[in-house]
Amino acid sequence: MLKTKHITLNTKGRDQVIDITGEVQEIVNQSKIDNGLATVFVHGSTASVTTIEYEPGLIKDIKNLDEKLIPSDAAYAHDATWGDANGYAHLRAAMIGPSLGIPVEKGALTLGTWQQIIVIDHDNRPREREVIVQIMGE
Ligand code: ZN
Repeated sequence: MLKTKHITLNTKGRDQVIDITGEVQEIVNQSKIDNGLATVFVHGSTASVTTIEYEPGLIKDIKNLDEKLIPSDAAYAHDATWGDANGYAHLRAAMIGPSLGIPVEKGALTLGTWQQIIVIDHDNRPREREVIVQIMGE
């Protein structure tokens, strides 16, 4: 069986971190799939999906890490292509990646207690984001 649902997020951009664990588990519950794989994918090249312990310290730490590795005030070739000044956002999104596969067992995501599913919007302005959740299994 295969079920697909979308989650729409209105983000602030600027590396906003959003916990979507509850929404994804709810989609798993509604799917009636007990065992399989949940794929979580964010549409767009300036946002990413990963897992983290969703607590204020780590949210600051991941933003600081992004700024350290890929500074927002550096010059990027992409900015010369479109003039949208978000080269750093594309690079941060590519580094973390747009999707995640999470095994589903007995109707539940096999996440750790301190492991939440997050979307990070790296863009330099507010965005409407589509997150696609696809569950494959039986
Ligand atoms: Zn761009």
